Amino acid sequence: MSRNVMIRTKNISFSYTEYENNQELDSDDMELVKAAREASLKAYAPYSKFKVGAAVRLKSGKVVCGANIENAAFPSGICAERSALSNSISNHPEDEPVAIAISAMTEDGITDASPSPCGNCRQVIAEEEQRTGNKIRIILSGKNKTLIIEGIGDLLPLQFNRNNLKINPL
Ligand SMILES: [Zn+2]
Repeated sequence: MSRNVMIRTKNISFSYTEYENNQELDSDDMELVKAAREASLKAYAPYSKFKVGAAVRLKSGKVVCGANIENAAFPSGICAERSALSNSISNHPEDEPVAIAISAMTEDGITDASPSPCGNCRQVIAEEEQRTGNKIRIILSGKNKTLIIEGIGDLLPLQFNRNNLKINPL
């Protein structure tokens, strides 16, 4: 008896758009980056001194912000992205997010590197995309350079989501 075993190696590619100069951003994206930068000034980050701001643009055009909030019990802190999304979901549940901009600063100013969301925040962005049925444009803005990703699928492939919770029939 021979078994017919199928084993395949698959590759996943992802794409993003890199703006080498923030001046090339369109005005909506730049406005959101500015809001994220302002939000980062309000971060409570006495331990890491790494201040992050996030700005969420809602379908109505409204912009909702959040910043990272650290805690002496480190795991009790929250990132800027989840802070901003908690703000938008709890205060504007019917007004869905279409874009989120993220900016980070240290004591030396805005970071050169484009800040990328941590795994927890990627998971929360994925849930929000699934809740609303729409992709969220993710704008990662460094001091001079910005990366734009059209949806969390490119940052979180093979994601765990509500479909995984469905009980398969026997
Ligand atoms: Zn995070």
